[in-house]
Amino acid sequence: MFVDTHAHLTFEPLSDVIDGVLTRAQASKVNQIITIGIDPASHCQALALAESQPMVYAGLGFHPYAADKVSPASLTLLKEQLAHPQVVALGEIGLDYLKSPVAHDIQQQALIAQVELAQALDLPIIIHNREAIEDILTCLQPLAPLKGVMHCFTGSQREAERCLALGLHLGFNGIITFPSARDVQQVVPELPLEKILLETDCPYLAPQPVRGQTNAPEYIPHIATKIAELRGISVEEVGRQTTANARRLFGLGEDK
Ligand SMILES: [Zn+2]
Repeated sequence: MFVDTHAHLTFEPLSDVIDGVLTRAQASKVNQIITIGIDPASHCQALALAESQPMVYAGLGFHPYAADKVSPASLTLLKEQLAHPQVVALGEIGLDYLKSPVAHDIQQQALIAQVELAQALDLPIIIHNREAIEDILTCLQPLAPLKGVMHCFTGSQREAERCLALGLHLGFNGIITFPSARDVQQVVPELPLEKILLETDCPYLAPQPVRGQTNAPEYIPHIATKIAELRGISVEEVGRQTTANARRLFGLGEDK
């Protein structure tokens, strides 16, 4: 079986057809899913979904797009929401220098404040990076050792090692199945399997052979198959080890 450690189930079009999405995930042996909230509105939606569906857990945090919404008051509310037993991570949080309209220094302050909150609550963090790896590592270094994941990892071997040195896991999604992704495909076999997590980032980034379509947790096996192929091991072993990794990091219960 598999865990999808990074999904946006409350985003359209997945949210409109959620029962079918979860049924098809289970048919593909994806039995646990962490749905990610990125701002106050999606935090409430992710919490409601995790409350009503035993296979769904939630990660909540202010994404770099919403970094300007971080304030003492909003962090107090977030802290209350993070106390819910179905919430297993603080995130996604991070830096996005490509698409976020929020100033870099505000993004950095939001990232650091949220990592400190996660550490106070002993929750793992989920880090988003877009064209900001150096500044992310600079922000995180003084806070190491860290418990969490660099999600959607597409960097170099050197960057992978720097993330691992901070204590982070690395999350891989459909990008590693793209024929153009030769660089990250070379990194995958060099990493400790105990530090790898599977994720879809659905509804975005559908893997080959469904690239360009709406992504969903049911496509996790395509990513696991690619990792197995790159490492020369069985898909079952990838499933077993990455599921154990996800359960340990996020404290997920046994499959219900
Ligand atoms: Zn995401």
